[in-house]
Amino acid sequence: MVRPTVARIDLKALTANYRTLAESLGREPSDNGQTPGIIAVVKANAYGHGAVPVARALEQAGADLLACADIEEGTSLRAAGVTAEILVFGALSVSELDGIFDGRLTPTISTPGAAKAVQAAAARYRQRLRYHLKIDTGMNRLGFRFDNLARTLPAVLASPNLELDAVYTHFATADEPGSPLFERQRARFLDALRQIDALGARPRYRHAANSAALLRDARVWYERVRPGLLLYGVAPPPLASTLPLTAVMTLRSRVVAVKGMRTGESTGYGARFVAERPTTLAIVPAGYTDGLDLRLAGRGVVLVRGRRAPVVGSVCMDMLMADVTGLEVSPGDEVVLIGEQGGDRIDVREMAATIGTIPWEILCRVGSRIERLYD
Ligand SMILES: *Cc1c(COP(=O)(O)O)cnc(C)c1O
Repeated sequence: MVRPTVARIDLKALTANYRTLAESLGREPSDNGQTPGIIAVVKANAYGHGAVPVARALEQAGADLLACADIEEGTSLRAAGVTAEILVFGALSVSELDGIFDGRLTPTISTPGAAKAVQAAAARYRQRLRYHLKIDTGMNRLGFRFDNLARTLPAVLASPNLELDAVYTHFATADEPGSPLFERQRARFLDALRQIDALGARPRYRHAANSAALLRDARVWYERVRPGLLLYGVAPPPLASTLPLTAVMTLRSRVVAVKGMRTGESTGYGARFVAERPTTLAIVPAGYTDGLDLRLAGRGVVLVRGRRAPVVGSVCMDMLMADVTGLEVSPGDEVVLIGEQGGDRIDVREMAATIGTIPWEILCRVGSRIERLYD
């Protein structure tokens, strides 16, 4: 049984996006003379697209390194048979660490506490565990502070059961072309790499670029880049991409009822929309449970019969109302929430801009009740 509201996930588009990105990385000269590899970011259920099918498709497209947010996400990818290396971005100091060993995951060490905990666990497992070291160059979230490495790193680097595989950082303002912090973080990262070298550590590689940094500056590609959003076919606003990427997710529903309103009547909770003329509403079985934001009411649109129909009234838990006055709409008609219809399209960038959020949030919030259909 499939509900009328479904998310279609186009795995061919995903694969094509991955290949397009991989090829584009070979086209610019890089500082080290090699073409950077990709760390394919599949955290948060692959940005709402479904982690397992997405990870499998990326693996088939050639991805040899995936990244997820925590040990639990990595563990479920392994349980589903994913064989590529899996990097865990998150902090580990209060996690159960057995999953790292059971799932052969690659941890990020981003705090002294995590270094101690993971070292102790690796000793218990009698393993030498490869890890990525995270440097905080100005995000002020996870990572060792760039200006304190001489104090904090020697103990980490001396951990007998830990082997430094890669060093990375994360940009706070890669998608803000006017922000000076990006350049500052870039310089601090280079300085951190020099300090790590001076401490005698020899990581195999470095990485720093999320989608926005990848688009914006080849100098931060290093040996690997870490796109998430771009893989799913969306460029991080306000940046534009000339790469031929295709949106992987579309979100469609069907009209379940058509309601006629007389002038002066209202619809929905709070009676916020009052008909100024005889009005026809299409009732769409998708609401805030499904990730459709309350702020779409009075602002957003859906596509019905190839036309833009405004979302009116209030977005309810399980339904929303669209003003389809003047359109010949019947129950069963297709409604496009994200995607194309009749030559028009609503993409996640547009929906995000409409309600004052970011495309990442729109994708990740597509609810668990919505079935993902893969093709
Ligand atoms: C989520 C994430 C990314 C990917 O970010 P996009 O903007 O979606 O490309 C890269 N690196 C880290 C550390 C992340 O957490």
